Amino acid sequence: MALDSNFSRKIFRAPWVVPVSKPVIGDGAVVVDQNSIVAVGSFSDISREFPDLPLSNCSGVLLPALVNAHIHLDLSAYGTVCQDSEDSTMCDWIASLLHRRQHSHFSEQDLKAAAEKIVQDQYNSGVGLLLDINNSSLGVFDSLPVEILSLFEMLGPSRSAAQAAISAIQNLPHDQPVTGHAPYSTSPELLQYIKKRCQKQGQLFSLHLAENSDEALLLIKGQGCFSQFLKERGGWDDTFPIHGIDSRGVVGYLHELGIMDDRTLCVHCVQLSEEEISIVADSRAHICLCPESNRFLSVGTAPVEQFLKYRILPALGTDSIASNPKLDLWREMVLLRKLHPDVSPEVIFSMATLGGAQAMNRDTDFGSLAPGRKPCILQVQDSCYEELSNPEQLFDKLTSCGRPDSLTWLSI
Ligand SMILES: [Zn+2]
Repeated sequence: MALDSNFSRKIFRAPWVVPVSKPVIGDGAVVVDQNSIVAVGSFSDISREFPDLPLSNCSGVLLPALVNAHIHLDLSAYGTVCQDSEDSTMCDWIASLLHRRQHSHFSEQDLKAAAEKIVQDQYNSGVGLLLDINNSSLGVFDSLPVEILSLFEMLGPSRSAAQAAISAIQNLPHDQPVTGHAPYSTSPELLQYIKKRCQKQGQLFSLHLAENSDEALLLIKGQGCFSQFLKERGGWDDTFPIHGIDSRGVVGYLHELGIMDDRTLCVHCVQLSEEEISIVADSRAHICLCPESNRFLSVGTAPVEQFLKYRILPALGTDSIASNPKLDLWREMVLLRKLHPDVSPEVIFSMATLGGAQAMNRDTDFGSLAPGRKPCILQVQDSCYEELSNPEQLFDKLTSCGRPDSLTWLSI
């Protein structure tokens, strides 16, 4: 038996191995079999422990697969929706996106083909795990190598819309994962209904949260662009403002609804107060940053330093092509470096790997190079990485040079 299992194993040696969950290893090695990573360590230790295994010498750096924790694949065909003017609000952008969706007559095949192209590019960029939020199902992406968790997103800002959404959910297959859109678009009853369904089925609940300041304005005062938007579109009843929201803000409100726990992923979190961040941390909920999308929509910059102070390691997401023309986690890391120069490059790289895996509750498979994880290993090289002499320099380059010149997936 031991011989059989050794037969399918192989050692990959490289000048640099980045386990993420442990310090970087210079002249490192990873032992893998068909199903998992078996061991990670210095080449001298690994060659002593596994003297008879075939060896593959790699150049460059070995990394775990990246995790993109927020994308909307069903928007792929519609392209990027640009703001009309500098005064445009996020509501104007949403209106433009909805208009484009209503007036572009793509077939289901067109929508799926555009999504597949983006999934392929995600894979080419080193993404091994994707969290997709959609409101028109594109079916399963079986033929593509990226693992995709798709959550069907529901919203309903008024009581009647929420009731219609609940009826629609009841007609879905029992095992269809469903999630909520955002506090400004989803009534408290609907948020609670969906979260309870997720809890019953052990599913992740992901929602857009505090993407811009108008969300709190709607929930606390019944004002701002979302209020206008709902009134114009007939989605307004007495749901908003929510009475009794105090200094604990929108997150305190979600906490009281029973939404905040370790299987909740809060996406964007640009406009959170320190008190709200402490509630996120205490409830062990997760945060996903989408810095390129936030820049595109001019909604502000997430308080990343504060998240880290509260020991929250955020995940990274690209969001959709509608608000991010590039959809590239390497660019997200570069932008984070620029926006948050005091955050260490190593932590930023952890967000793109381990942070995403933890947020999706998949860190026993993804996010790090460690025994038992899936053998999804990237080999990257770039002219920018030449003459590296220590791990600090390596993380600096990984997070500031963008997508590597050469990126390949190791195969056994
Ligand atoms: Zn989104």
